[in-house]
Amino acid sequence: MLDEINGYRRSLDAGSRESIVTVHRTGIGNRLLATLPPADLGLLTPYFQKVSFETDAVLVRSGDELDPVYFPHSGAIAFMLDMPDGQSVATTLMGREGALASFSVLGPSLSSVTAIARMAGTASMISAAKFRAAYAQSAAIRNVVQVHARAVLLQLQHVAACNALHRVDGRLARWLLQLHDRVPDNPLPVTQEALAQLLGVRRTTVTLTMSKLREAGAVPSDRRGFIEIDRARLERVACDCYALMQRNIDRMYCQELSLQPANRPFRQSAIGASEGADGESRCASRAGK
Ligand SMILES: [Zn+2]
Repeated sequence: MLDEINGYRRSLDAGSRESIVTVHRTGIGNRLLATLPPADLGLLTPYFQKVSFETDAVLVRSGDELDPVYFPHSGAIAFMLDMPDGQSVATTLMGREGALASFSVLGPSLSSVTAIARMAGTASMISAAKFRAAYAQSAAIRNVVQVHARAVLLQLQHVAACNALHRVDGRLARWLLQLHDRVPDNPLPVTQEALAQLLGVRRTTVTLTMSKLREAGAVPSDRRGFIEIDRARLERVACDCYALMQRNIDRMYCQELSLQPANRPFRQSAIGASEGADGESRCASRAGK
C-alpha cells in the first residue's frame, strides 16, 4: 500500500467539484520517466511530489494555466472538450504513458481542455517552471516530451476520425479497451455516466449500447459502476481505430525511446499479438542494444 505522508488539496473555482490530491511516496511507473537516464531523471526527482488523485478529480480545468506538470504512474485521465451548451466530449485518454501539462515547456499557456481522472491513480507532480528548467538542460527530457507530443497528436487524429466515421458500439469498445490498457482492473471501475461523457452521448445511448456489448459477450456484467469485460471479444467489437492507434503509439515509443519490453506503454492486445510481431521484435531489439 502507498505510504501517505500528507495531504494536498487543489481547489477549483466556486461552485465546482473539488478534487483531492494526496501526496505519496511511490516508485516510477510512468513510462516516460522510466526511459530517462539517471542523470536526466535526477534533474526532476528533487522537485517531484508524489500525489494520488481520486476518480472524478479535476487536475486541470479548461482555461487554467498548464501548471503543475503530472507524470501519472497509474490511473486514467481523460481530456474533455467543454462546449458552450454544457456538453463535453473526450479528445484523448492518458495514463502512465503520458505527462499532463508537459506542453508547458513551450511557455506559460492556458489549457484548452479539462483533464479529469476517469480512474483513480498516482502521479509525480512538478512545477512547470522547474520542469522547463530541466527540459532546457536535458536532451533526453526534450526527446521524451517530443515523442509524447507526437503520440498525443496521433491519438487526437484517430479519435477525430473515429468520432466522424464509426458507430457508437465500436467507439464504446475502444474507450473500454483504452481504459483497460491503463488500469488493469477487471471489472473496470467506471460508470455509464463517465462513458457517456467520454463518448459525448446521452446516458440512455450508453445503456442501449452496453446491452449490445453484453449480447456479444464482450461485457459479461455491468453493475454499480463496475464493468466486467471479456477483452478478446471486446477487441473484436471495437472499431479498427483501437488496434491501429495503440500499435502506432507502441511502435513510436519502442523505436524512439529506450523502452524496455516490460515497459511497453500499453498491454499487448490479442490484435497486436497477431499483427504486431514486427513491433514486438523492434521493441525487444532496441532494449537489447
Ligand atoms: Zn473508430
